[in-house]
Amino acid sequence: MTREATPPTVELLEPREVPLGGQRAMLVRRTLPHKNIRTIGAWCFVDDYGPADIAGTDGMQVPPHPHTGLQTVSWLLEGDVLHRDSLGSQQRIEPGQLNLMTAGSGIAHAEQSPETRASDALRGVQLWVALPDDQRHAAPAFDHHADLPVVEDDSWRATVLLGSFDGVESPARAFTPIVGAEVRVDAGEHRLPLDRAFEHGLLALDEGLAFDGLQAQPGSMVYLDEERPDVAVSAASAGRLLLLGGIPLDEELLMWWNFVARDHDEIVEMRTAWMQAVEGADTRFGQVTAYEGPSLPAPAMPMTRLRARPGRRT
Ligand code: MN
Repeated sequence: MTREATPPTVELLEPREVPLGGQRAMLVRRTLPHKNIRTIGAWCFVDDYGPADIAGTDGMQVPPHPHTGLQTVSWLLEGDVLHRDSLGSQQRIEPGQLNLMTAGSGIAHAEQSPETRASDALRGVQLWVALPDDQRHAAPAFDHHADLPVVEDDSWRATVLLGSFDGVESPARAFTPIVGAEVRVDAGEHRLPLDRAFEHGLLALDEGLAFDGLQAQPGSMVYLDEERPDVAVSAASAGRLLLLGGIPLDEELLMWWNFVARDHDEIVEMRTAWMQAVEGADTRFGQVTAYEGPSLPAPAMPMTRLRARPGRRT
């Protein structure tokens, strides 16, 4: 069988602004899922928020809500956030630290700006990684990593959050071949090494960055398909980016609200269980007992049947 050579795919993914949390919502810039690109490797959700001055405000207030079939990756650039979950975990994170929650069959968590804060600034990213089908029903877990490996070149420095970058592996638990790294570049032209088997997304976190020649505003991402040995990064001034990548998923995902599943009936079951948990029932999600106040109810199901979708529309 012969295959026509297809031109390489590079696409600028512009974010959409979405309110996060309950009534006191914070606006976030969401690049994944995107219209044409729904996943990058197993990365299935990318929110970038801030910088915000939260002096005299509640800051981030996300009441208890559930997750299934995914890992949440919490990463801060400025400020601090308190994570509490239904396993009883309570963990504050600061810039340079990773909170990794593996939802498996079900977990609930709340994320809040702590009452006593290290800073009045808040800036970070909230990412999801889809679990492969054979791992998505596993028991939930929570891990905190304060000490992550760093890869350095003359003009850039990468902290490896998840998976491996340039041969250096994060201690955090990953279930698919993946990379998540925060890269700080000096002003100038750089080349970052890539894994040829991976597709990648480069999320701009600061002004003045271009990836493979495409200008990216903060919160925008440049998507690159596989078979690339490296990527050109141009920086008008010193700046930060997030490198995400992985082997393209060979599964179709059904993402609805905070759930990652495979079919409509699973989503109905997850939603029903969560609504019972909101009323205090003992379900697969448990209870975030340390949180005072009501949990987030799930939105109504749409009238149509939900369908799983492929990672990339061609
Ligand atoms: Mn969450």
